[in-house]
Amino acid sequence: MLRALAYLIATVLVIGVIRSIIGIVLKGFADLFHPPSQNAPSQKVPRTPAVPVGGELKKDPVCGTFISTATAIQKKAGGETYYFCSADCRDKFRG
Ligand SMILES: [Zn+2]
Repeated sequence: MLRALAYLIATVLVIGVIRSIIGIVLKGFADLFHPPSQNAPSQKVPRTPAVPVGGELKKDPVCGTFISTATAIQKKAGGETYYFCSADCRDKFRG
């Protein structure tokens, strides 16, 4: 009885190992025929963020969000104008 149980557990383990090996091999073949680097050109061009009409796109230096200069919160520092998506980001930049 105990041997039968041990045999059953061993079988389940072996099947699990074989299945994972097959999965790895299949994935390896898929990568071989479709390397990620060759997939890149066929992928969609990164979407440009949706912005209100008018104004120039600027990147919020705090959170990295692109905002329109027409709606962004501006702050002049060191002769440069910075644009922020929110007062929170502007305050963080200051501090
Ligand atoms: Zn921000």
